[in-house]
Amino acid sequence: MRPARALIDLNALRHNYRIARELSGDARALAVVKADAYGHGAVRCAQALADEADGFAVACIEEALELREAGIQAPILLLEGFFEADELDVIVHQGFWCVIHSAWQLDALEQATLAAPINVWLKLDSGMHRVGFFPEEYADAYRRLQASGNVADIVKMTHFARADELDCTATIAQLKTFQRATAGLPGQTSLRNSPAVLGWPEVPSDWVRPGIMLYGATPFEVPHAHADRLQPVMTLESRIINVRELPPGQPVGYGARYITRQPARIGIVAMGYADGYPRHAPSGAPVTVEGKASRIVGRVSMDMLAIDLTDLPAAGVGSRVELWGSQVLASELAALCGTIPYQLFCNLKRVPRVYQGD
Ligand SMILES: *Cc1c(COP(=O)(O)O)cnc(C)c1O
Repeated sequence: MRPARALIDLNALRHNYRIARELSGDARALAVVKADAYGHGAVRCAQALADEADGFAVACIEEALELREAGIQAPILLLEGFFEADELDVIVHQGFWCVIHSAWQLDALEQATLAAPINVWLKLDSGMHRVGFFPEEYADAYRRLQASGNVADIVKMTHFARADELDCTATIAQLKTFQRATAGLPGQTSLRNSPAVLGWPEVPSDWVRPGIMLYGATPFEVPHAHADRLQPVMTLESRIINVRELPPGQPVGYGARYITRQPARIGIVAMGYADGYPRHAPSGAPVTVEGKASRIVGRVSMDMLAIDLTDLPAAGVGSRVELWGSQVLASELAALCGTIPYQLFCNLKRVPRVYQGD
């Protein structure tokens, strides 16, 4: 069996969820498990949190139904609401909570004939300019929902564009816009995503929506006291399948992008971009071999990559290699690759997931 695999530590997931709760005071926390729990497996992650999570959030009804069919009974919020109005009957039947972010959704909800009213999270565009009602439209949209027999509770929500930038004033500007646009409208609020849970304690939010922090990756580019307490949930690992002893001046891998400068020991690892390891990882990107630091050399190929074992004489065929996890942080590798840990996790494929800690 090919040795590449992703270990998923469900105890670490629970630890991280508890940190989100602890940092949120009396607020309740929806665990964001969209995109298959950021590549960690939505069903297994939701089951692991089922006893303590106040609810879950996903991108679409397909993801929500997968959780319901697996026996998850907690509230599930659809972060983009419905994509077609005929989803509303399922939303009623399953008791899903539904973001309303656009005028067409509001119209469709008003015009629908529903068996029972649904819980709505009405989204404000407080500055990110993707979706949500503009501040000057918000109170009117809210009152239309209040007047509709299809709507039960309304939560006022918005999303931050730059909460990962701790020295940036945009988050407080968005908060002020939110407070102005929602002034006088009753009901609970939801503003904080992971970077806001970790880094913006002054932002009030009755419901928080942590995603990346649950998986143990920091959303920040700099060290941060709370983020540094998170435990990585995923360990991407494989093994060395061949070792080459090469003299100086020899190329390694596609495009000869690495040339040995001295007598070198090169290990070939069963891991490549078809597994989701980033092809753009530069020579020098960190890995560990049986816990000891090493680095990628040459281009990452589809099924294999090369690492430098020159200073690790004990390493050989069968040695365990960690590509990311608690020894190599996904956030650090992501930064070297010009991306974010979210994308590394979501790109995971082909590699079997092995769950620990149920
Ligand atoms: C994905 C998402 C989140 C979670 O974001 P993180 O940065 O992973 O915590 C929260 N709210 C909304 C609306 C989202 O789409």
